[in-house]
Amino acid sequence: MANKILVTGGAGYIGSHTVVELYNAGYEVIIVDNFVNSNLEVINRINEITHQKPIVYPIDLLIKDDLEKVFSQHKFDGVIHFAGLKAVGESTQYPLKYYKENILSTINLCDLMNKYDVKNLVFSSSATVYSPENEMPVNEEGKLRPSNPYGRTKLFIEEILRDLYQADNDWRIVLLRYFNPVGAHESGLIGESPKGIPNNLMPFITNVATGNLKVLKVFGSDYDTVDGSGVRDYIHVTDLAKGHVKALQKNVNPGIRTYNMGTGNGYSVLEVIKAFEKATNRKISYEIVDRRPGDVAVSFADPTKAMEELHWKAEKNILEMCRDAWKWQSKNPNGYN
Ligand code: NAD
Ligand code: UDP
Repeated sequence: MANKILVTGGAGYIGSHTVVELYNAGYEVIIVDNFVNSNLEVINRINEITHQKPIVYPIDLLIKDDLEKVFSQHKFDGVIHFAGLKAVGESTQYPLKYYKENILSTINLCDLMNKYDVKNLVFSSSATVYSPENEMPVNEEGKLRPSNPYGRTKLFIEEILRDLYQADNDWRIVLLRYFNPVGAHESGLIGESPKGIPNNLMPFITNVATGNLKVLKVFGSDYDTVDGSGVRDYIHVTDLAKGHVKALQKNVNPGIRTYNMGTGNGYSVLEVIKAFEKATNRKISYEIVDRRPGDVAVSFADPTKAMEELHWKAEKNILEMCRDAWKWQSKNPNGYN
């Protein structure tokens, strides 16, 4: 019998790619998602890629009774917890919504994992938990000080999970701190499908490339970086998805462990634009505007610990990230809609 994994938020961007990699690695998958930021069509696409169809429960993690029904129907070997809200700007406008959605849903989940004795968790954390004061590349020992409510939900959940492990040493918990996931499955069948105007760089670029959006605004040209634009550690979503499989496979001993998920390379916004143009033979019109409030100049990972302990390393380069992002967007100009 294959190991059975509950994937919360499994219909979302990173979740759907991880479900594909879980099937590739021989796991059985059950998804819980309320589709607040995803589309049921993704399940057909996962089926097209893997010839497998996950059971999907369209429920909200905040409704604990509904979630309990799922636990009572399946004996899970582990949980990967992606579900949550992730828009930084919205979180500054509606902090309580973010604290409620992200933190309460995690508490509901962990309560049930306790009750049903499924003490094996991989949690989606973020590089936004790090303080902007850290020198780059930052490793897992870097100072923690997120600069917005979204980032604080991630930090608080990390702390809750550390307390949980302190109280009960049977738990096996992995905290994965993602840097900047981009790209799409190489088939072009699944990818990132943001609702409304994208906030993130890569979906904005691909939407300029399709003509959905006219011009990319480059936020800032006076940072202390190679060309003045902001530098980030972009990681191909398939590499990130594989990192989750490794984390599950290695999560056999009790403990709570934290890993950066990045490539260790930083690219500026202008370098990403150039890479996209090279990978796709398309021109991206852009204009330079003021810095975006709250942005840091440079953020990239020291991924050594994940290499040493999980035997995981991001393989795909920036050209592959751009190529696959474009393949997805050009095949699906309006995402799943
Ligand atoms: P996503 O929005 O595509 O996926 C999240 C999924 O969770 C969506 O399908 C959504 O419908 C579902 N969901 C949200 N609230 C729910 C609830 N209360 N009950 C059930 N389902 C719910 O986002 P993503 O980019 O795939 O991110 C996945 C996780 O990784 C999130 O926790 C996010 O904060 C974290 N993360 C993402 C990034 C990034 O850049 N994409 C970076 C760092 C961390
Ligand atoms: N960025 C940009 N224009 C955009 C969106 C993003 O110049 O329309 C820049 C942003 O200032 C940052 C980088 O691209 O330097 C990555 O931003 P994104 O929002 O994708 O991720 P973040 O690292 O901010 O979470």
